[in-house]
Amino acid sequence: RLFPSQGSIPMISPIAHLRNADRLDRMFIDGEWTLPELLTRTGVIDPSTEESVAEIALGSSTDVDTAVAAAKRAFAGWAATSPESRAQFLDRIHALILERAELFAHALSLEMGAPIGYARSTQVKLAAEHIRVARDNLATYPFVTHRGTTAIRREPIGVCGLITPWNWPLYQITAKVGPALAAGCTVVLKPSELSPLSALLFAEVVQDAGLPAGVFNLINGDGPGVGAALSAHPDVDMISLTGSTRAGVLVSQAAAPTVKRVALELGGKSPNVILPDADLSRAIAPGVAAAFRNLGQSCSAPTRMIVPRQHLQEVERLVCEAVSGMVVGDPCSEATTHGPLANRAQFERVREMIDVGIAEGARLVCGGPGRPEGLTRGFYVRPTVFSEVRSRMRIAQEEIFGPVLCVIPYDSVDEAVAIANDTIYGLGAHVQSGDLETARSVAARIRSGQVHLNYPAWDPNAPFGGYKRSGNGREYGIEGMEEYLETKAVVGFQQA
Ligand code: NAD
Repeated sequence: RLFPSQGSIPMISPIAHLRNADRLDRMFIDGEWTLPELLTRTGVIDPSTEESVAEIALGSSTDVDTAVAAAKRAFAGWAATSPESRAQFLDRIHALILERAELFAHALSLEMGAPIGYARSTQVKLAAEHIRVARDNLATYPFVTHRGTTAIRREPIGVCGLITPWNWPLYQITAKVGPALAAGCTVVLKPSELSPLSALLFAEVVQDAGLPAGVFNLINGDGPGVGAALSAHPDVDMISLTGSTRAGVLVSQAAAPTVKRVALELGGKSPNVILPDADLSRAIAPGVAAAFRNLGQSCSAPTRMIVPRQHLQEVERLVCEAVSGMVVGDPCSEATTHGPLANRAQFERVREMIDVGIAEGARLVCGGPGRPEGLTRGFYVRPTVFSEVRSRMRIAQEEIFGPVLCVIPYDSVDEAVAIANDTIYGLGAHVQSGDLETARSVAARIRSGQVHLNYPAWDPNAPFGGYKRSGNGREYGIEGMEEYLETKAVVGFQQA
């Protein structure tokens, strides 16, 4: 792969950078780049070539013990720092992410196939936003309030295990690390073993920001080896996981014997309800873009477009028009809007679900099985739209996590709402209407943690999380920081 220059400075590849700095075999524990107790490695696969671009070390439960002990030792000191001092550290982390944006963007592109322009403009930029928002909320948050004679103190919960997925690797990391550090917690991060490069670069940022040793620790490793050990660890006070509902159940089970707090951000199958009065010329194309953003590998992707039956034909035409504007190809190219799927498991899953849709009798209106033309290797699939999908079909019920959109017709608004709520998930939702009051009233009837009306701009302060099996926590904004706080009532604080 070629890496462009950044101004007058030649851009070094993230792999060469990490190799030269001797990071690939190491974990970041107690302020040091440490070799794991037992060195086992795994390959990082570039999904555009299916080839391994680097080997990274995987940790084990022994490394988890060492990292948790470091985080525990560092906790009292970090929890006692002033909010102003923690805000300064977050400022530095924020500035360093932006300074190294190009390096991060290339790492994301290599480890999960994000097109370089998209990685730069969206994945890295929004990741930095989580740190800025955590910093801003920290600066104004009332950590002590009073009610009658009682003082109510919000205190950091302690040592937090943070487990993140591969789909938005850096963004998911900062969505947890920012608020956890802001709250005064110390952390052990376990990123996805499929996307470890951006996590290693992030640990460098934290180190260069000068955080005290042990406040932030990174262990690369897989779910059963490291994630499970972290979830069960008696000295971990809280686990926050973003991942599949399957992993959420396993983490909850492992965490139960130690009664630690568990925050889960899990899967989704989000609806996009197009109401009969919506202007289709404005409602459809952005809906397709949202469903296929990050190639559909977003937990809140609105992959069920619920449309009035009388407009079905027009919707199908507009959907196909929007899909035809997508440029699927090499993630290194600035012209590419959509790259390959992030890994082989995803590639196989998406292809299987396209076949399932056909077998179930949904009508294929664009895309379909097979590779996009000219892309003979790499985990590429064709952006696919099914119409006349019925809500109980597997393609409308299961999270596919790829570029597969289901268009589901309805005959009444009550039916549209029932379809919107007809899955085990409840993460994101969209409503399109020409009348804001109508949109609001439908939003109130949808069982999900976020509802977006007429495609508003991204709001990093809007709390994000799931109803039902999409999870039980909230990230972003003030609620995102409150996840990491305990409540202590000092009764009799005021005395006559
Ligand atoms: P995954 O569940 O396979 O892995 C997520 C993380 O959990 C990884 O770090 C993995 O190593 C770890 N893990 C796996 N098994 C574990 C176990 N037994 N104990 C502890 N940790 C374990 O998910 P993924 O394939 O990386 O990501 C895709 C999933 O994540 C999708 O279901 C998607 O909807 C979900 N997701 C949710 C959100 C959200 O905010 N709700 C955001 C992004 C992705």
